Amino acid sequence: MQFKLIKLLRTRRKNLIRSQTPIILTCVILEILNYAFIKDLSFFDYVVFITVILAVIYTSVAYGLKRGLLSAVIGILYGDYVGSKGTFIQFNVTNERGMLLFSVLLLLMATVIGWLRNLIDNAIAREIAAKELAEEENRQLASILNQLPIGVLVADKNARNIKANRMMETIIGRKLKNSMELEDFRIPPQYSNLKVTIRRGKAVKNFEMEFVRPDKKIAFVRIDAAPIKDKKNKVIAWVSAVMDITERKQLENRKDEFINLASHELKTPITSLKLYMDVLEKQIRNTNEKKSVKIVSELQEQIDRLGTLVIDLLDVSRIQTGKLAINTTDFRLDSMIEDALEVLKRTTAKHKLILKKTPATVTADRYRTYQVMTNLVTNAIKYSPAGGDIIISVKKEKNYALVSVQDFGIGIEKDQQDKIFDRLYQVEGKSSTYPGLGLGLYISKQIVKRNKGKMWVESETGKGSTFYFTLPLANN
Ligand code: ADP
Repeated sequence: MQFKLIKLLRTRRKNLIRSQTPIILTCVILEILNYAFIKDLSFFDYVVFITVILAVIYTSVAYGLKRGLLSAVIGILYGDYVGSKGTFIQFNVTNERGMLLFSVLLLLMATVIGWLRNLIDNAIAREIAAKELAEEENRQLASILNQLPIGVLVADKNARNIKANRMMETIIGRKLKNSMELEDFRIPPQYSNLKVTIRRGKAVKNFEMEFVRPDKKIAFVRIDAAPIKDKKNKVIAWVSAVMDITERKQLENRKDEFINLASHELKTPITSLKLYMDVLEKQIRNTNEKKSVKIVSELQEQIDRLGTLVIDLLDVSRIQTGKLAINTTDFRLDSMIEDALEVLKRTTAKHKLILKKTPATVTADRYRTYQVMTNLVTNAIKYSPAGGDIIISVKKEKNYALVSVQDFGIGIEKDQQDKIFDRLYQVEGKSSTYPGLGLGLYISKQIVKRNKGKMWVESETGKGSTFYFTLPLANN
């Protein structure tokens, strides 16, 4: 510490002496000139006056206020010395006045010029410090971004100025240029809706995309992107987070393949089992053994449940792989629903199924629409355990038919209403009371979607739910 202080003082002193070299050198040279050449004292006065002023100006400009003032003092002392030899600065005034004028002039000049120099110095120093701080912050931000396990991309509106972290380039498998077009991101044509969302300046949430890397490997990413807007609400830039979900997708695919295989393998033995059970049931009924008849019909019920489950699993894997076949025909939706309700009525004694119908012919897959109806009404029965009315209505709207299934059961909480249409989703806390796999609504919604319709729910907890779906009306 002490050592450091001494070193600092030394360097300061060195600098102080160096800063006074111009004025000292000026005085020494002037003295030599005076001795060797300039004998005319009044001419020498002028030379001293001008050169000392120049030396003080130089020191003030080069070293600032304090050192400029020190030079001015040295200059004044030298002027005084020259004056003591003769009559320094006569300028038609007395020697003292001349000396005073000279001193004030030197001090004033040193103050003004030195102060200006200090001011400029400070401004420059501040600017440099701010720049260094910004650079440091940028460096830190870049290093944080580079450590992130997700890809981050910041681009201005026209993708002309692009900043991406290391992970982003790893995910897409190539270097990003500083300036690109939206097309350069090579968004595959099947994801044109992503481009539309971006062009409209809307946030992209949870968007999953498949693409081929330059090394020909298939990759999956999840994209979340948000626009940055100016005061006038105009998009000026985009910030995107991109996650590599290839591994997860591959795992999901393998799981789907397994479900597909398992459900296919299960289907055949269950069908045979059902046939054998039917034969067995007939035989046992003939024996009139009530206990055995009851056991067999319970067994049949369980086999039916197993069969439905396997069919649901098969449908899910068909949907997942895009292999769900849709055979559209024109049929009377109201009549089909009537048929379905005839069968469903037999499954409950506690509920009253009420149909309000208008004749409506739709273009859709009849078998799959029957499946949707069965699922919605079964759910309405299942989730209104106290019994009561279930109102089914068929209406014609503009160019579509609107079907609704209303129950007065347990209802669904607001925050769950979107999720119930997801695969394998069951409302939290309800799965133990109401067994199921959470596949029915997912399948139903996908079927309706494939038939160019929509499905949604309106519900209030404790009051009941109404499920709606639409199907396109037949042209004539
Ligand atoms: P599952 O009934 O086999 O669990 P679904 O896909 O048919 O699967 O339904 C998903 C979830 O939605 C159910 O677990 C249930 O919590 C909720 N749900 C469906 N229909 C109704 C309804 N009518 N009333 C209340 N909740 C319902």
